[in-house]
Parts: sequence; structure tokens; C-alpha cells
Amino acid sequence: MPSSVANEGYKFQASLSSSSSSRASSRSSPSGSPLVTPDGDVVDKALAQLQLDSSQPAGQLAKSSRNGWQVKGSSLSLNTHNRIRSIVESLKINPNPQKPMIPLSIGDPTTFGNLKAADETMKAVLHAVESAKYNGYAHTHGHEAARVAVAKYSAHQRPEGQIDPNEIMLCSGCSSALEYCILALADRGQNVLVPRPGFCLYKTLAEGLQIEVRYYDLLPEKGWCADLKQLESLIDEKTAALLINNPSNPCGSVFDKAHLQQLVQICERHYLPIIADEIYEHFVFPGSQHIAVSSLTREVPVLSCGGLTKRFLVPGWRMGWIIVHDRQQRLGSALTGLKNMCARILGSNTLIQGALPEILAKTPQSYFDGVIEVLHGNALLAYKILQQVRGLKPVMPNGAMYMMVGIDLARFPHIRDDTHFVQELVNEQSVFCLPGNCFDCPGYVRIVLTVPGAMIEEACARIAQFCEQHYKKDTRSLIEHSLLVKHKHY
Ligand SMILES: *Cc1c(COP(=O)(O)O)cnc(C)c1O
Repeated sequence: MPSSVANEGYKFQASLSSSSSSRASSRSSPSGSPLVTPDGDVVDKALAQLQLDSSQPAGQLAKSSRNGWQVKGSSLSLNTHNRIRSIVESLKINPNPQKPMIPLSIGDPTTFGNLKAADETMKAVLHAVESAKYNGYAHTHGHEAARVAVAKYSAHQRPEGQIDPNEIMLCSGCSSALEYCILALADRGQNVLVPRPGFCLYKTLAEGLQIEVRYYDLLPEKGWCADLKQLESLIDEKTAALLINNPSNPCGSVFDKAHLQQLVQICERHYLPIIADEIYEHFVFPGSQHIAVSSLTREVPVLSCGGLTKRFLVPGWRMGWIIVHDRQQRLGSALTGLKNMCARILGSNTLIQGALPEILAKTPQSYFDGVIEVLHGNALLAYKILQQVRGLKPVMPNGAMYMMVGIDLARFPHIRDDTHFVQELVNEQSVFCLPGNCFDCPGYVRIVLTVPGAMIEEACARIAQFCEQHYKKDTRSLIEHSLLVKHKHY
């Protein structure tokens, strides 16, 4: 009998006797002295018999410690935190009633109605519903036809242009793809290298299981390239994987081929697999090109995570995938682990799986081009306005759907940090951005580029007004600010 099954039997016994003991304890008076009830005898006898049956010391332990309700959250659940939510909820927000709210914070591109899923994408789901073929469970990695379609759609990720459908695992959104990869590769006490600034989900997924997250820095002055020396210095025998997010949320940066090759070389030197969050792989602006990191190496195993969410503008459909690039079969038991992870919740939404071949084949290029045009247009517009604002330093993105804007805090003596900047900006101008703090990037705010053009223009004008009102150019106030910072007198 496998040990896990034996364990389950053991737990069953413990809980059986403990449920009896809670019945027993419910018969206790608050002071603890037993109440005599007509059936007390029967219950006690049954209890005694149970304890005889299970000569398990843990059974008795459970009994003696079970003298009242002691329900507790597990350590995994209690150590799971959503950083963005906790920072945003800590803000004291009171938007200016004179101005309608403009949320440049929401990462869901469907919120404003200007960006919609393509008709072809939606029809594919209709056809899947009408076929009535996709109401049942699928293989835990996904229906064969859906995996064939993803393999074909992702063929560019291999130099030879071919991926085996068995190397595809369909997941519930890219988030679950990332979770499976991190959990399949890393144990408690091990570490994973993740980018800073970076998407906070990686930490959320890892820290609950006491997998350490180590940050490698992306350098704004170098187009958000990784600080390779610092990255390499983080690697030790406990490092389980390097996570690359390209194009980047929140930076909007796109790594070039040379930089990706440098990252691959580091991984090759240290025998480190790569988890590539490539959910934005097709979100690049004219003049930039996304290169799948897996297309550059035969040596380093790459788990590429992607999905429909961003490119097809259907985040709620929860369709993501893992593409296993393991050319030399180096993943070993981690591959088994990955398969086991996929079996935990019996795979992803089968209706969308049924629609997937048609979605991937029929959604026209002109649709994708249109979305990129909107994002790029908004990026240019926001950049043009914010670049002229004293105290701000927007960084023009090359992809994804965000722009980072640096704040020269020394010029804003009454603003403590980026979180405070966001709070005051909402209160005065009703414009909501996310503080860089959410992405471990203090001194920046992130704005989303998926809102309607007129809205982004209005928002940037209000940001400009806010900055003009708070900007101090004389040196005296700069000195005052540094004193303030020293004494933390806010
Ligand atoms: C949106 C996003 C995801 C998650 O996508 P889902 O498919 O909705 O789970 C993953 N990584 C990054 C960087 C994202 O921005």
C-alpha cells in the first residue's frame, strides 16, 4: 500500500475518534464536569471501544486536546497574501466628488468596454456549447484536440517549429500554470528567483508554502534589463528555478535576444530550469519583437506559461497553459510532479477547451493588430503628456499593457512615497494608479494603457495638474524634505 494511502487511513481513524470526543465534550458543562445524560453510558462505551480498536497514540492525543472548537486556518492559507489588495485597501481614499473617477489601476482590459473579445472568439464558444460535446471531464492535461491546437499556435517557441501535443498542459488561467510550475519545481526551504519590479502573484504563490522568493533587479536605466551580476549572486544550491516575465508586467519592457541569451547562459552554468511567464508574448509594439526564451536553448529546460487571457481579452474564461520545453529530458521527476499538479483539480474548463481549436485558428490577425494599435496609441499619448510634467519620469513601454512612471519624490516635499502619491492623487484628482510598492518598485506608479484614449488623456492632464500643484523647485524645500525624511515627521 502506498504510504500516502496508509496516511489517509490513519487520519481517518484520528478524526473518527476525535469526532466522538467532541460529542463527549458537548456533553460537558462549562466548568468541565460531565453531565449525566440518559445515553451517556452508551456513548462512553462506544468511545472506549473506539479507543481500544485504534491503539493509535495520536487518537488519544486528539481526544485530550479536543475540548472545544479549535478551527484554525492552515498555515498555507494564512501565509497567502495578495500584496496589491492589501496595499490598496490600506489607502485612505476619498475621491474628489467634482471629478469622475478614472481607474488607471485595473489590470482587467475588459473593464471599460473599449476592448472586446473578437466575434470569432465568442462564436467558437457558441459552437462548443451547441455541440454538447464539452460538458464532461477531459484528460487532466486537456482534450487532445485543444492541446494539438495550442502546440500548433505555439510552434514558434521552438527553433525547429514543432511541439508535441503531449508537451502541452492546459490550466485554469496562466495563474494556475505558474502555480503548478513553481510548486512542481520547488520545495519548502528552496528558493525561486523572480524579477523586481515584478508581478506579485509569484510571491503570493510561493510564500504560503515557505518557498523563498529572491528578487533580481530590473534596471530602469537599462530598459529594465536584469542586473545579471546581482541575479547570479542570488543562486545557491537551494535555487529551484529562474522566473522570467517577458514582456513584463509592470514594466512593459521586452527583452532582446542578446539579453535572453545571457539569462540562458547563467541558467546553463548553474543547471537552473526557467519558468517563463509569457502571457504577453504577442503584446509587443511596432519596432519591438518578442523572442520566446525556449527558442534560444536546447540545454536549459523551459516551462513556458501562456494563455488566452490578455491577447484574446477574456480573463474570466480562465484558460492558460504550460508548454514543456525539455529537449534533453532534464526535468526528471519534476515532470511527473507537474502532471500530478494538473490532476489535482481535474484540469481546466472543458467548454473553453472545446472552443480552443477554433479560437486559435479563426481569430483574425487584424483583430490583434487593432488591440495593439490601441495600446500603443495610449502609450504614446500618456508618454507625451507625462514626459512634460516636472517631477515625473515616464518610461516608454515596448509591450504588455502598462507604463511605469517614476516620481522624483524630492520635488514633492509633502508626499512621503509612491503609495502616498497615489492616495493624494485620488483624493484631489480622482485618478487611481497602482503604487510601485505593489511591485516592489518604490518611487514609481503604474498606469494601465487599456482605457479609452480620451480617458487616458484626461487622466494624464489631471496627473499633470496634481504634480504642478505639489512641485517645489527651490532648494530650501529640498533640504526641508530631506530633514523630513530623516525624522519621519509626516
Ligand atoms: C494577467 C497576468 C497573468 C495571469 O493571467 P490569468 O490567465 O488571468 O491567470 C500572469 N502573469 C502576468 C504577468 C499577468 O499580467
